[in-house]
Order: sequence, then C-alpha cells, then structure tokens
Amino acid sequence: MPELKLRKGLHALGFRFRLHVRGLQGSPDIVLPKYRSAIFVHGCFWHGHEGCPYFRIPKTRPEFWTAKIMANRARDSAAVEALTQQGWRVLVVWECASRLNNGDNLPSAVAGWLRGSQTSAELSQETLSAV
Ligand SMILES: [Zn+2]
Repeated sequence: MPELKLRKGLHALGFRFRLHVRGLQGSPDIVLPKYRSAIFVHGCFWHGHEGCPYFRIPKTRPEFWTAKIMANRARDSAAVEALTQQGWRVLVVWECASRLNNGDNLPSAVAGWLRGSQTSAELSQETLSAV
C-alpha cells in the first residue's frame, strides 16, 4: 500500500500528521496541521490520472467507467479548490509516483514540498523522474 510507506517515511523524517481527516473536504489522507497542508494519495485508475500509463479506460463498459472516473475527478478538484480557499496547501501524490524506485524517493520529495511555499502541486512518476 503506497500510502503506508509514504506515512512511515514522513514519520521517520520527523513529520507529524493526522490521517483521513473527515472534517476537511475530500477527507485528505494525510493532514499536517503545523504546515497547514493536506495530502491526497490518489490511485491513477480510480482518480483518472491523465497521460499516465496506469490509467486506461477498460474496453468493457467504457461509458460506465468514464462516467465514474469523471465524477471522481470532479470531486477531487472541488476538494482541492475548497481546501486552498480555506488556506490549506494541497499536494496530490499519484500512485505511480510510489512505483518509481519502489517509492524510496517519495517521502523526501513530499518533505521538500512541505518545507517549500508552493500552494498546490502534484507528484507523479513523471514529475518525480524530472527532479
Ligand atoms: Zn499515474
């Protein structure tokens, strides 16, 4: 489970957080109040990671899957918008980012974002390999 490894890595780096905070829109997976930051760990298929090799609409019942995934995406972007309007910084970590080098580089990449000042960002296999 990619999220678990990320959590362990962040904890080892000294970050403290809360999990699956229901009081915030979208129930972010990892919330760091000290950094006023929320992190979503998204599966590339279910959340429709565009341009990602792990996201492909199945050949059977494509309309069903397209509608379902579009609804997830709409919900995801509404959550990011609501949170940033409430002054939260939001990071989306795509599942494919955790497949690169077995996810070993992920905690430090997330830590780098937390210590930075970017309001919102996404980490994917593509952005991680560009660093
Ligand atoms: Zn992806």
